[in-house]
Amino acid sequence: MNTNYEITVGLEIHVELKTETKAFCRCKNQFGASINTNTCPVCMGLPGAIPTVNKKCVEYAIRSGLAFDSEINEISVFERKNYFYPDLSKAYQISQLKKPFCVGGKVRYKLNGEEKFTRLDNIHMEEDAGKSVHDAKNNKSYVDFNRCGVPLIEIVTMPDIHSSEEAVATLNSIKETLVAIGVSDCKMQEGSLRCDVNLSVRKVGDPVLGTRTEMKNLNSFKAVARAIEYEANRQISVLENGEKIRQITLKWDDDKGENEELRSKEAGNDYRYFPDPDLLPVRITPEYLEKIKNSMPELPFDRKNRYMRDFNLTENEAETITSNIVVTQFFEECLKLKNEPKVLCNWILTDIMRKLKESLEDEPKIQISAKNLVDLINMFQNKEISINNAREVLDIVWESGESVVEVAEKNGMKQDNNEDSVKQIVLQVIEQNPQAVADFKGGNERAKTFFVGQVMKLSRGKANPQIVGKILDEELNKK
Ligand SMILES: [Zn+2]
Repeated sequence: MNTNYEITVGLEIHVELKTETKAFCRCKNQFGASINTNTCPVCMGLPGAIPTVNKKCVEYAIRSGLAFDSEINEISVFERKNYFYPDLSKAYQISQLKKPFCVGGKVRYKLNGEEKFTRLDNIHMEEDAGKSVHDAKNNKSYVDFNRCGVPLIEIVTMPDIHSSEEAVATLNSIKETLVAIGVSDCKMQEGSLRCDVNLSVRKVGDPVLGTRTEMKNLNSFKAVARAIEYEANRQISVLENGEKIRQITLKWDDDKGENEELRSKEAGNDYRYFPDPDLLPVRITPEYLEKIKNSMPELPFDRKNRYMRDFNLTENEAETITSNIVVTQFFEECLKLKNEPKVLCNWILTDIMRKLKESLEDEPKIQISAKNLVDLINMFQNKEISINNAREVLDIVWESGESVVEVAEKNGMKQDNNEDSVKQIVLQVIEQNPQAVADFKGGNERAKTFFVGQVMKLSRGKANPQIVGKILDEELNKK
């Protein structure tokens, strides 16, 4: 990128709340249900139907605000955001504008060892719209209203982000935090976390922000990073050509790796926001707020600092363990069974992460129980299994789900600590390799490595290497 320019990014993140029912009616909030099965007069907006706010949504919005240090408004107001779209039968979305649940706050993250944060403008609650389904073959379009009224929070950041790395780190921190506090599963591929990016560029040192464009259809963190790089370069070349940036909305095409213009924003949208007359303002009492505060779990960022302080993990180790809730929970489960955080961390970072990288799943799935891993580590520490065989056992258990002890026994992978049986193999190897014995006697130290290798091979990796070394020394010196 041209280093004479600085990019400025703000994010608008829509997160579906993980509630049983929708935001203002009792329809199920469910991903993947048959078309138009989770609908009722309220979420369809039929005349006379009156919405009632789902208390769980209010709680989740406030939990999110507390997690990001936002101010919680004592009085919040729902407003109607009016616009026409075929998938919005009411012709308005219930949202919040002037009095959202949460104001301000910040998303903390670490990047290349540096502690940073992105400020938030607000977090507000709103309802989702339905989905249009296009049948290109028959040239028809259909509407699925299941998603109408699904509760969302929208997290709006300040334009504090100046690189694609900062954007992804901010997003990741938001995702991990929301998953940790239990308000959403934040699955980008299922659309429960969606991110729009506002981007502008300006000459370094210019006090005024440039004209911004908005990008949509970003379906993965990778897409967000690519789209930011692409759009920044496009804007810079427009400016370098002496032209002006137009305020437009773009749609990212991840296959092509480029943006396509959706619509011009110059006319400006007028959503004619006004307070929803069907819904009363919501008052958050200090007692209620206190109750939610007391139920907040430890946040990933704080947990990371605690791991570094209490468990003596390095920043990198703590970061990897806490940057994904599945890995964190697994680590915590192991910790209950074995109070050796550093040892557990090493095994998770090397062996569990290796397995997770091999699998191509979007969300990590740890296919070994905490008990099984701890048993395996204990076997290794008690010299009952070599490190190589332990890894092999892990591979087998990962697929089969059996117990590590059984697998090690069944496959004859348990380490042989019996000096007599190891000695038998050592003697056999020495007898079969007179030339190597002569080499060793002649001062060739490498001959010993050869012997160790042969013994390990013959014992199928089971012989305890320390015992092998000891007996080899004894026997070779007798020669
Ligand atoms: Zn409904």
